[in-house]
Amino acid sequence: MPVFDSRSFKNHEQVVFCADEATGLKAIIAVHSTALGPAAGGCRFWDYSAAHVNMAPIDVARQRGEEDAVYDVLRLSRGMSYKNALAGLRLGGGKSVIIGNPKEIGSANLMRAFGRYVDRLSGSYYAAEDVGTSPAMLKHTSETTEYVCGLEHGEFGTGDPSPHTALGVFIGIKAAVKHKLGKDELKGVRVAVQGVGNVGRTLVSHLLEAGASVSITDIVESNIEKTKALGPVDVVALDAIHAADVDVFAPCALGGGLNPKTIPEIKASIIAGAANNQLEREGVEDEDLRKRGILYAPDYVINAAGIISVESEVYREKQNAAARQEKIMRIGETLSKIFTASDTEGRATGIIANEMAEDIIHAANAAKLGAAAE
Ligand code: NAD
Repeated sequence: MPVFDSRSFKNHEQVVFCADEATGLKAIIAVHSTALGPAAGGCRFWDYSAAHVNMAPIDVARQRGEEDAVYDVLRLSRGMSYKNALAGLRLGGGKSVIIGNPKEIGSANLMRAFGRYVDRLSGSYYAAEDVGTSPAMLKHTSETTEYVCGLEHGEFGTGDPSPHTALGVFIGIKAAVKHKLGKDELKGVRVAVQGVGNVGRTLVSHLLEAGASVSITDIVESNIEKTKALGPVDVVALDAIHAADVDVFAPCALGGGLNPKTIPEIKASIIAGAANNQLEREGVEDEDLRKRGILYAPDYVINAAGIISVESEVYREKQNAAARQEKIMRIGETLSKIFTASDTEGRATGIIANEMAEDIIHAANAAKLGAAAE
């Protein structure tokens, strides 16, 4: 199984394979870059060999089990480096995956065993919540290592990042609407929100407050009901939301929603939402969208407010709400820069964002090397 030759390997600093026989732990930790600070990123707990892999939050066409886990951790850790760099954080990028079904093997002891491996990295990687893990599970991990963040307990715990993520997405939508439609406000702008979970629902409340006209969908009826209680929303069928006749399509469910099947049906001129890995293939679907005149807000740029809220926890600082707010507001400015560069250069927003992030990381590495040489 290739690691260095994997198509998602790109100058990763360290990749660690971990196993613990007693608990059944099989995990991979990938530290992509520590140029800007300790690598921070979620711990994903996912059964990569299961038949439901099509529902995986990863862009793989077929099931390859462990190989998918390697691919996923390498790609996601690089994504975290880019996300943290463009958000202006003192954090590098990393990610971990635990292989298996969390409902079957996700015991407290397994999470503690995972923590012992995180601890061996001596702070070059901080684990946080991701698909398949929860603050409650990570609390067990925090019993065996201090290198965990996004916790609900403790002196520096920053708690649920979702409300911050929703605010960042709202700010990003405003920047995209300004760029594409020339409007300074969202009054009367039509937005379709796919998935009204923790982030999507709070996003809807910001949108309604701003006077937008909102359509929603979700696979969970109770989430639709909770969202309807926030104000007037149109409920759209699950398979129709991406094709809704709106200005903005905001994917806030799982990844992979922008693919060759859905893209031709999209009527919105802007795609700006919280979901991670919205593009089925990086550099392909974003280019298709650009050619169709659809403005795509790169997912890791617009959804960065969650990690912004966690940064202080890594540094064991009391959270400064004003500093956090300032960084969240900057998401709009960063997106505007990406949109303008994409127009000027005639290249996909996703590619522009990756290059901007790589420039920041290379500059930090060069500064480190320069300082070491002095
Ligand atoms: P969540 O699980 O609370 O909400 C997701 C919602 O999408 C749920 O209500 C679920 O029922 C719904 N859903 C799932 N599949 C669907 C489908 N096919 N069609 C319509 N609805 C569907 O998750 P969340 O925390 O709100 O995160 C939403 C997305 O944003 C995820 O992709 C997540 O990775 C990403 N994200 C979240 C944060 C954060 O702070 N929570 C930060 C960055 C990125």
